[in-house]
Amino acid sequence: MRIDVLTIFPQMFDVPFSFGIFKRAIDQNLVSINVHNIRDYTHDRHHTVDDYPYGGGSGMVFKPEPIFEAVESVKTQVDREPGAAEPPIILLTPQGRLFHQQIAVELSKHRHLIFICGHYEGIDERVVEHLVTDEISIGDYVLTGGELPALVVIDAVIRLLPGVLGSEHSAQEDSYTNGLLEYPQYTRPADFQGWSVPEVLLSGDHAQIARWRREQVIRRTLERRPDLIKKTKLGREEEQLVEKFTASDKTKSSSSKEPEE
Ligand code: SAM
Repeated sequence: MRIDVLTIFPQMFDVPFSFGIFKRAIDQNLVSINVHNIRDYTHDRHHTVDDYPYGGGSGMVFKPEPIFEAVESVKTQVDREPGAAEPPIILLTPQGRLFHQQIAVELSKHRHLIFICGHYEGIDERVVEHLVTDEISIGDYVLTGGELPALVVIDAVIRLLPGVLGSEHSAQEDSYTNGLLEYPQYTRPADFQGWSVPEVLLSGDHAQIARWRREQVIRRTLERRPDLIKKTKLGREEEQLVEKFTASDKTKSSSSKEPEE
């Protein structure tokens, strides 16, 4: 996969791409990440990328010309096979669709992604209307720039690329991959400050361990994110577990109620 990031702060990407899974994926040519300074696509002495908003109001607005020019330049750098799909041009914006695992999966299937990091009060709307093909928000809050959101999305996408994680399995069992939260994890020591690891995990009985984990997935998701249970298509065994835990919760809450006078 090739990823191009357009930003006015290219240095913000130096450190994250120099460590761990990112670095290994780049070194192994599983992904190439190219960060471009939008100011390089300006033509005035001060490399201006912002201007006052038409109609007045506070703050500045990102100008359209350098962003259009940067995207055009990136596109010419890539040899696209005849008939191959155009890369998505993704604007990070708090007004975009809310990012989640399935969007990461969808993006991971492309050969090329282009990210635009906004700044200031916002971006000239003509960029949104005539250049951008996708708008992504990482949550219902406002950050100062699109660099951190771009890193969040890129991280979630890269770890899904084949070969990037040590074991293919670890991404498959991750929270959200099948719509639910992952089961709890433990490592050595078996007893830490008197808190012991659930016995089943020490039993060596793989079928029992798998069953315990399936139960934990349902129990945990019901407790923390019941909305996910409603949204996810469950198998027969999972549905039975939901019924079991819901029934036992009801029993617990009715037995803990004070008797009425
Ligand atoms: N005035 C804009 C609004 O209310 O929609 C917010 C602009 S914000 C200060 C500056 C830039 O940060 C945005 O153009 C966007 O690139 C980025 N940004 C801020 N919050 C974000 C979020 N939750 N998700 C994705 N990008 C975000």
